[in-house]
Amino acid sequence: MQTPTIGIARPRNMERLPDYETSIRRAGGNVVVVDVHRDELATAFNALDGLLLTGGADVDPELYGERQQRTVHPAKRRRDLFEIAIARLAVERDVPLFAICRGAQVLNVALGGNLVQDIPTEIESALPHKIEEPLAEFAHEVNVADGSLLRRSMNDMLSNRGCRVNSRHRQAVKRLGRDLVVSARAPDGVIEAIEHTGARFCLGVQWHPENFWHTGEFHLLFEAFVAACQERPTRRLIQRPTVN
Ligand code: MN
Repeated sequence: MQTPTIGIARPRNMERLPDYETSIRRAGGNVVVVDVHRDELATAFNALDGLLLTGGADVDPELYGERQQRTVHPAKRRRDLFEIAIARLAVERDVPLFAICRGAQVLNVALGGNLVQDIPTEIESALPHKIEEPLAEFAHEVNVADGSLLRRSMNDMLSNRGCRVNSRHRQAVKRLGRDLVVSARAPDGVIEAIEHTGARFCLGVQWHPENFWHTGEFHLLFEAFVAACQERPTRRLIQRPTVN
């Protein structure tokens, strides 16, 4: 069986890249970095068997029709638009998509959803969700939905209710995008994972499973993703836009 090629959206902080790369490689995938500043959308997309969206700055609230609150630090507009476009392509073509932290928020916005801009002010009795260091520190539990892709993928690694996760986010999914469902919540109700009901593998998690590659808590998640990328029967090519 051929080793699938998985595109990792270039994270803002390149020091964070090795954990994503190592997690994919240990699960049996090849890695290419997809860079908004270098790659054309069609060229980038056509080379991939799967797409990993990574962490980073906030999605500009304008892109989901809201005014920006004081605490928001928007990403570069170009990165927002590129990742939204490539996430939509992955969903349309049923190319496996694993979206982490900001990536999960990008996925939700790409499909018409919106975000909690600031958890501490919008969610009553919220747990601390922004614990920066150490990267692989457990911050809170998540309850994982029965029958979800997340539960099936994590399998034996879950207790009855779910698992413990790290947490480095001030924002979260609010109103769900088209065909998305909640697959995990924190005990305070914050949405911690979403998935697409019509896709073979389209999952967004609010935590950072890639930081645990050395201890393996989320290895099954990366294995399930890479396995879905491997199943992909043929590349679903898109045409480069033509200028008339
Ligand atoms: Mn959290």
